[in-house]
Amino acid sequence: MILYDSPIFGPVHSRRLGISLGINLLPADGKWCSFDCIYCECGLNKDSKATAALPTKEAVGEKLREKLEALKKEGIVPDVLTFAGNGEPTLHPDFPDIVKEVIRVRNEYCPSAKISILSNSTRVTDAKVREALMLLDNPIMKLDTVDASYIEHVDRPVGQYDVRKIIEGLKAMQGQCIIQTMFMKGRDANDLTEDYLQPYLACLKEINPRSVMIYTIDRATPVEGLEKASHEEMDAVAERIRALGLICTVSY
Ligand code: SF4
Repeated sequence: MILYDSPIFGPVHSRRLGISLGINLLPADGKWCSFDCIYCECGLNKDSKATAALPTKEAVGEKLREKLEALKKEGIVPDVLTFAGNGEPTLHPDFPDIVKEVIRVRNEYCPSAKISILSNSTRVTDAKVREALMLLDNPIMKLDTVDASYIEHVDRPVGQYDVRKIIEGLKAMQGQCIIQTMFMKGRDANDLTEDYLQPYLACLKEINPRSVMIYTIDRATPVEGLEKASHEEMDAVAERIRALGLICTVSY
């Protein structure tokens, strides 16, 4: 189980993103998410309950400034500031105002850095949240499948979830969103079959995202029996996405 500091963690150096500074709007002592994915690296919701308070907008701005000052002294400028961490960032009730504050701090300290988010898309139906997401350079939005029973089984929404409404919310992002999809197989789940792929591809065409990122399991999962999709399987899905005229990147 991986938990991140709050409200700022990292920086993390990655070949794909460069130097990424994380912004975790959830508490440091556990997870808070509107999904309970069987592959979640933060563990299952029941095993990782957050009890501490959420960071305030002021605390996020102050800690981000402090960290960027400290990095500047070391001659480090982040390439990207990423909303991610112990759950779903858009659940924070002040998410829209925090986005504006983070943009202000970025413009002040590291105007070249992009701002990204890893979101599970559950709050894209809320106009205020969606507008805030659209202020970000890279709104990376999860859509693992469009099959309601697979979502119930794998992403396991907490509370009401209507995939059709989520798709409409993603469409309302007017081509700005980046769709992120987990592909895997194994005893408990397999979204590589035609039953799942065909409707998923049709919805991608409808959403018309800026790009699509597909990935597979990389680390141990809280539910056993899940397997990585092979390079060949991932490449075959990517080719079908590209055949729709969309940009697709693959992480194995
Ligand atoms: S959406 Fe992300 S944080 Fe939430 S349960 Fe799924 S993998 Fe974990």
